[in-house]
Amino acid sequence: MTTYVWDYLPEYEKEKDDILDAVGKVFASGRLVLGDSVKGFEEEFAAYHGTGRRCTGVDNGTNALKLALEALGVGPGDEVVTVSNTAAPTVVAIVSTGATPVFVDVREEDFLIDTDQVEAAITDRTKVLLPVHLYGQCADMEPLRAIAERHGLKLLEDCAQAHGARHHGRPAGTMGDAAAFSFYPTKVLGAYGDGGAVLTADEDTDRAMRQLRYYGMDQVYYVVRTPGHNSRLDEVQAEILRRKLTRLDAYVAGRNAVARRYEEGLADLTGPGGLRLPTTNPGNTHVYYVYVVRHPERDRIIEALKAHDIALNISYPWPCHTMTGFAHLGYAAGSLPVTEKLAGEIFSLPMYPSLPEAVQDRVITALREVVTAL
Ligand SMILES: *Cc1c(COP(=O)(O)O)cnc(C)c1O
Repeated sequence: MTTYVWDYLPEYEKEKDDILDAVGKVFASGRLVLGDSVKGFEEEFAAYHGTGRRCTGVDNGTNALKLALEALGVGPGDEVVTVSNTAAPTVVAIVSTGATPVFVDVREEDFLIDTDQVEAAITDRTKVLLPVHLYGQCADMEPLRAIAERHGLKLLEDCAQAHGARHHGRPAGTMGDAAAFSFYPTKVLGAYGDGGAVLTADEDTDRAMRQLRYYGMDQVYYVVRTPGHNSRLDEVQAEILRRKLTRLDAYVAGRNAVARRYEEGLADLTGPGGLRLPTTNPGNTHVYYVYVVRHPERDRIIEALKAHDIALNISYPWPCHTMTGFAHLGYAAGSLPVTEKLAGEIFSLPMYPSLPEAVQDRVITALREVVTAL
């Protein structure tokens, strides 16, 4: 049987009764859209993050980013400083507001936004800084916060890969003016379909979010104030997410246990010019949305592992600025050298909390064999 980097079925087997109970509860509730489950999830997800956060459930992570940008006042003509080294939806969301993404490079050690390069990317059109907590650990928020304050910018965290992550004790999603989450099934907190949410401590931003996801209507008079979207979180997904939220810390612990096993099994193969395992910055709690390793011979390794029935992924093979759909942004090859270098060397090992130990060991054994034979 082929091993893939992600599979939800082992978890579903364990949680089946609870998941199906959640579905049944919504179907029997008499209210299928914006009912008690969405409201309950919003309250519980906000409470999980503490510190007076408010939560608006939306239909997916891309729209969480898009609506959050709009709620923060971003529109055509504005610029948003972010990274090319991210999942494409980060950039799609910016473009869909009519704003222009401006890319800065990442640091080779941790794949995260190089905060030393941010200030040079700011112009008088910049409205928002949008760091991505890539792969499950937080970007350096203190310098970003200082830069945002110095230039009067808003700070939006892309938390799609960082549910439950912490940065000097603070949960991901509580360090900016707003934060966008995805509950796509593969994510650390994943639904059984699509879902997303935006967290903010700001009442006006929260009110704007609620209007934007509901056609742009206020929900007292049902009058459209500014034409918005239909981007509501589904009741069924919300009820499933409520159940899974109670297990989020356990999922994070499970992912960390897999990461420790990989470290133990692979550490002696690492070295400059060879295999490199992910590192965690001081003050960060990593949640390992994906377990991304590096090797200059990445393509040969992936090919050789196919013979062991192991199918690995690359997150992500094409930096956003090199994609044809973003060619109009005008970034030449070579303009973000670290991002481009990493894209040629990274690959992801299987990672999810219910990944059986026997499969982890099979991956370690096969990878050892392949890397040693290079
Ligand atoms: C998954 C992801 C998104 C988009 O989420 P969807 O729910 O798939 O729309 C955005 N940003 C990052 C970094 C992601 O990993």
